[in-house]
Amino acid sequence: AKCGTDGNFSEGEMVPFGPIALSPSSGVLNYGQGLFEGLKAYKKTDGSILLFRPEENAERMRTGAERMCMPAPSVEQFIDAVKQTVLANKRWIPPTGKGSLYIRPLLMGSGAVLGLAPAPEYTFIIFVSPVGNYFKEGLAPINLIVEDKFHRATPGGTGGVKTIGNYASVLMAQKIAKEKGYSDVLYLDAVHKKYLEEVSSCNVFVVKDNVISTPAIKGTILPGITRKSIIDVALSKGFQVEERLVSVDELLDADEVFCTGTAVVVSPVGSITYQGKRLNIIFA
Ligand code: PMP
Repeated sequence: AKCGTDGNFSEGEMVPFGPIALSPSSGVLNYGQGLFEGLKAYKKTDGSILLFRPEENAERMRTGAERMCMPAPSVEQFIDAVKQTVLANKRWIPPTGKGSLYIRPLLMGSGAVLGLAPAPEYTFIIFVSPVGNYFKEGLAPINLIVEDKFHRATPGGTGGVKTIGNYASVLMAQKIAKEKGYSDVLYLDAVHKKYLEEVSSCNVFVVKDNVISTPAIKGTILPGITRKSIIDVALSKGFQVEERLVSVDELLDADEVFCTGTAVVVSPVGSITYQGKRLNIIFA
């Protein structure tokens, strides 16, 4: 199959959560040829189930598949598989207001390769888990540390797609930050070490004088689906929204900083530590 084109995926099956068989020489285990997605199903007060914009996750997986030289499920196949998995796990969706069902689709090079090359076969699986708040702070403000030593992405790399290797590169920075008591890491761009990129698993917004700014999508940050929703909501409410280069210095006099993501939803930022200085954000 060509990179990013429709894969010839056979009809799937629903199996209990557990280990899967994988070749020791599979593309995913040896060369990180894997992509994932994350979305949520919510139970509404009337008992119906809400899936938040699954078509956008399907499209993002297809964009990622092109970059990772993998075939991808069609948008219809993706959504159908997500719906079937959610319905089969309906009893695990928490009641309204008590959390949600996190859905994790995974696309991987499961075929065997030895020399560096795209795998000859691919597997698409979905697993789910009930989740509550992502940060231990719950909905209270989180505390970030700006990292200028570790970067999660470089221009021309894979930072703009949801490939598994991006997360491998942040494990260490995130662990160190958490050990020091921070909620998460805010990364800077790898070239100028000056412009905000994103947090390990969410996008970042800075508010000043009612103008909402967020780093532009230019290949090194993930085009978050929550990010896009928040931009749309802000515009519809008459706010000015700027997608541009946002300098780390702008944090110094920001009125508000917040993060967006499927897992974190919208999390307010209470403090940011940069070069040893802790800056407390004042909420408007
Ligand atoms: N950036 C990164 C690195 C992420 O892992 C995520 C979570 N998918 C996001 C941003 C937010 O994206 P979304 O709103 O689509 O969950």
